[in-house]
Amino acid sequence: MNVRMLQRFKKIKDVTSSVLSVFSVETNHLHTYPNFTKNTFDVDRGPYRSLEEHHLTYFRDVLGENGLVVDLCDLEKYNVDFMKHLRGGSTLVLRPTATEQVSKILSFCNHHHLAVCTQGGNTGICGGATPIFDEIILSMELMNKIIHLDELSSVLTCEAGCVLENLDHYLNERNLMMPIDLGAKGSCHIGGNISTNAGGIRLYRYGNLQGNILGLEVVKANGEILNCMNTLKKDNTGFHLKHLFIGSEGTLGIITKAAIQCVPKPKSVKLLFLGAQNFTKILKAFNKARHDLGEIISAVEVMDHQTMEMVEEYTDLSSPIGRYPIYLIIETSGSDETHDEEKLNRYFESCMDKHFILNGVVASSTTQIQKLWSIREKIAESFYKDGYVFSYDISLPLPSYYDFVTEMRHYMGEKSHRVFGFGHLGDGNLHLQISVKEFSKEILDYIEPHIYKRVEELKGSISAEHGIGFLKRKYLPMIKSSVNISTMRNLKNLMDPKGILNPYKVL
Ligand code: FAD
Ligand code: ZN
Repeated sequence: MNVRMLQRFKKIKDVTSSVLSVFSVETNHLHTYPNFTKNTFDVDRGPYRSLEEHHLTYFRDVLGENGLVVDLCDLEKYNVDFMKHLRGGSTLVLRPTATEQVSKILSFCNHHHLAVCTQGGNTGICGGATPIFDEIILSMELMNKIIHLDELSSVLTCEAGCVLENLDHYLNERNLMMPIDLGAKGSCHIGGNISTNAGGIRLYRYGNLQGNILGLEVVKANGEILNCMNTLKKDNTGFHLKHLFIGSEGTLGIITKAAIQCVPKPKSVKLLFLGAQNFTKILKAFNKARHDLGEIISAVEVMDHQTMEMVEEYTDLSSPIGRYPIYLIIETSGSDETHDEEKLNRYFESCMDKHFILNGVVASSTTQIQKLWSIREKIAESFYKDGYVFSYDISLPLPSYYDFVTEMRHYMGEKSHRVFGFGHLGDGNLHLQISVKEFSKEILDYIEPHIYKRVEELKGSISAEHGIGFLKRKYLPMIKSSVNISTMRNLKNLMDPKGILNPYKVL
């Protein structure tokens, strides 16, 4: 196969973003901000009170001056989402440092009917973390203390605002590791991870957060503190209330503390970076890996050549094996270096012999492994620069997984600049991206709801790991029965009767 042929893709030079340029008087700098969400989306403000001076006085009393952000310039980073697609108009960020403060804030907001949008690291992709109108932003960034580590049972207790990467570094020094890892680890909070039930690259091995979160402390909408801070692996006493909050995206309560089942740091980690001719071959190589590498597999990721091409265009990284139509990344984590290496080499040679793969490299040193992982991790940073990107996080049965990318590429035709796919193959989770020169309502209407209908027909899920947030809420009725939705509404009414917690999201 002439892999060089793949390099013939055009590069678009003058990709402009859909965001509006705004001149900031305060700083005399030109910033680019998206348009206000309330102006771009069809959404009505709920019957909430607007902020008044005496509210601010109360919050200052509870938090002190440092706990409030009111400066218009400083507010922007909290009002605009990670993707720079959405922009809220909040005039107040509250930054509590203790659960009791969160409790006082919520009790007050509930009483005065003030809407609240909780924010972790603001790396969420579906618009759950930024306000739609003027909701008060409750930032968890100062609640970032590690409370306790039980090294024997590997249970870590910490506050919700701890940054995932900081927790991982802390554990690494103690030969342990977080059971979750994702590209946004340098900014996302464990509280945000739990609230979105985030997946990431370690899910294949360690399962989802529903299994790894042993306990939670949550502040309810009325300010009551719900203590479910269990640290036992097994506890079947009564309803499993913590599960209400895992994945509820800040709509049912505010997570303030968590107890997490961590895992031993593997002694031997290796990374295989493989190139293949097509997705069918990738599936064969993956299936073989499940049988041949079994218990040592810790991550299985895939990316197509369009993704690699984009990373190469916008970063200084490149494919370590040259250009191939599609790439498979397999990480192994074991306890015996020689044993793992032998297994890997046998697997690699056998895949080559059977023509499942065309080329590959094995990385063994931490530096090499990190370098290869950074290709995967820099995808989001790159597509950010690729014009306006419509981003879809879907689950699909494996036989349809990559066919769907091809199908969408045909469907988009000349309307898009690039249609590319990558994701957590081991979990059947595809990140499908459609980049266009600039946002237009016509293109959005062309893509949605078509894409969600097709996912539904293919028996997939329209949100594998990012949640529903603001952007996907209108599609919920397409995929959930009316009984499902009314049960969710009943729960919401029970937990938050005045609807002050993250309104306009999920439901
Ligand atoms: P935010 O974005 O601040 O908030 C997300 C939601 O949780 C909001 O609805 C917010 O209201 C709510 N929330 C936050 N904190 C709390 C709290 N303490 N209590 C109650 N509600 C709260 N996601 C994956 O699942 N897997 C991935 O592999 C992955 N990779 C990513 C890579 C990149 C580069 C980026 C930018 C994002 C990625 N994401 C991924 C999405 C995102 O990082 C996750 O959804 C993450 O869990 C969000 O955490 P956060 O702290 O940034 O939360
Ligand atoms: Zn992901």
